[in-house]
Parts: sequence; structure tokens; C-alpha cells
Amino acid sequence: MQPYACPSCRNKSRFYIMEQSPVSVKLHPQTGELVEYISAGDPLQQPYRGEMRRIQCAVCGVTDGAHVFAKTAERLK
Ligand SMILES: [Zn+2]
Repeated sequence: MQPYACPSCRNKSRFYIMEQSPVSVKLHPQTGELVEYISAGDPLQQPYRGEMRRIQCAVCGVTDGAHVFAKTAERLK
């Protein structure tokens, strides 16, 4: 872990940590039904580029990527 600070209210101790676990799927375009899980090696599937961890401030409710909270903690040192 590393120090986090809220970019809005500067809270440094109360957070929700949301670990992302992206699942690569193919859905039926009309019904939304899950057709299959797509393997990481599928050449038509872009790799996931989102954040692996998001943070919500448990004081003011601001939500952003963990890097924003980590950078804010650096800045407020
Ligand atoms: Zn906050």
C-alpha cells in the first residue's frame, strides 16, 4: 500500500478501495446474452487499459483512479 489523500477534501485516512477485475466477454448484440469469454490472446480484442484500482473518498464521496489519490498524497507531504 501507499499513502492516499483525497484531491477534493484532503482526507488521508477514510477510503473505499475498489479493485477492478475486468472480464473479457463477447455479448449477443440483440439480447445482451453472454456468448463467450474471450481469451487474452484474441487479436481483435484490445487489452484492458482502465485502472486496476479505483478509490472513493469516504468523507466527501469523490471517486477517481488510485494514482490521483497517490499523487495528491505526494503533493500534500
Ligand atoms: Zn474527499
